[in-house]
Amino acid sequence: MSLFKSPFATIKLAGPIPATRPWSQADAYLLDTLAAQWGDSGKVATVNDQYGAISVSLAGRQPLVYNDSAIFAHYLAINWPAGKPLPTVRPIDEISSADADVFLLRLPKNLHFFRYQLSLLAGLPGCQVIVAGMQKHWPASFFQAAHDFFAEVEVLPGIKKAKCMVLSKPHAKAAVVKSVTVNAEPFGLQLHNEPNVFSREQLDIGSRFFLENFPDLIDCHRVLDLACGNGVLGMYALKLNPQLSLSFVDESRFAIESCRASVALNKLPQAQCHFFHNDILNGLQLQPVDAVLCNPPFHQQHAVSDAVAGRMIAQSHDCLLPGGMLFLIGNRHLPYFRLLRRKFARVSTLAGNDKFTLYQASK
Ligand code: SAM
Repeated sequence: MSLFKSPFATIKLAGPIPATRPWSQADAYLLDTLAAQWGDSGKVATVNDQYGAISVSLAGRQPLVYNDSAIFAHYLAINWPAGKPLPTVRPIDEISSADADVFLLRLPKNLHFFRYQLSLLAGLPGCQVIVAGMQKHWPASFFQAAHDFFAEVEVLPGIKKAKCMVLSKPHAKAAVVKSVTVNAEPFGLQLHNEPNVFSREQLDIGSRFFLENFPDLIDCHRVLDLACGNGVLGMYALKLNPQLSLSFVDESRFAIESCRASVALNKLPQAQCHFFHNDILNGLQLQPVDAVLCNPPFHQQHAVSDAVAGRMIAQSHDCLLPGGMLFLIGNRHLPYFRLLRRKFARVSTLAGNDKFTLYQASK
């Protein structure tokens, strides 16, 4: 638990990465700016809050909460004060019908996702937005994006390595293409990618290496694609093994939407596919599976950490049938062999090259 102070409240916050503060100076700057320019009045909405620092600080004002992340939803519930009704976490797309005076937006990681959010906000008449992020995560292109959608962009001075800007007078001059289709040749798959999806513009080279060295799943019935993104690994499994029942899990709502749309686009049997917007497998009651396919993230937001991969490995172990297999890919330099050996007695390399290792671990 870490203490976070703002003009609105002093709160205790938990987050997913041990020994890492679940809030940043950017959260503090957003709330300081809200207090300085708007005070206690007006209806507020939060967008892209990470682990609840902003939304929980404003619990007394019943904020509208927009977020793509199930990790956020998980920690919002943990950090939310007892006795106050937990707000609904609304999908990002619902911003287009939001009813708030001011939006508090934490800068997302990728530019397209930022532009998409600005395009939704700029569609709201009279919309005002405070944006904050850490200096090192704020390329110049993000300022240009603000000018593309708002006539007034007030850039505030940097404070403690955080940046903040206030946007008003929306003018929505630019168009944003929401979803794209990527051809995953030579695997015979089309990938439908919504905003914020991993490797949105092309098939990731790690995923490609996994597909090129795909395990034999002929004897399997139930398979889990954990951290599925657009579902490329699970869909390939189903294409090669039509008998499979597939569960797809990702913490990004847009990833799950992409995955669902990709399954339909590839005319794969939808009744055999189950989709879960979830933080790893926390709280999910899945039937035990014969195999897990996983290309885990090596960071959570901007924090590089193997803690999430470690949790994915542990939870994969728990949901596998005896004799079941986890197939996990990672950059060669990542310590996945050690993490796998903590849980699995037998770990070997299915394939490797100068960049990636595809491990197989059996329960
Ligand atoms: N499987 C896809 C592929 O191979 O192209 C995507 C892999 S990408 C490296 C990692 C995925 O993990 C992202 O889609 C991300 O949203 C998801 N992710 C990150 N943290 C997660 C968590 N705690 N629970 C579930 N999914 C998570």
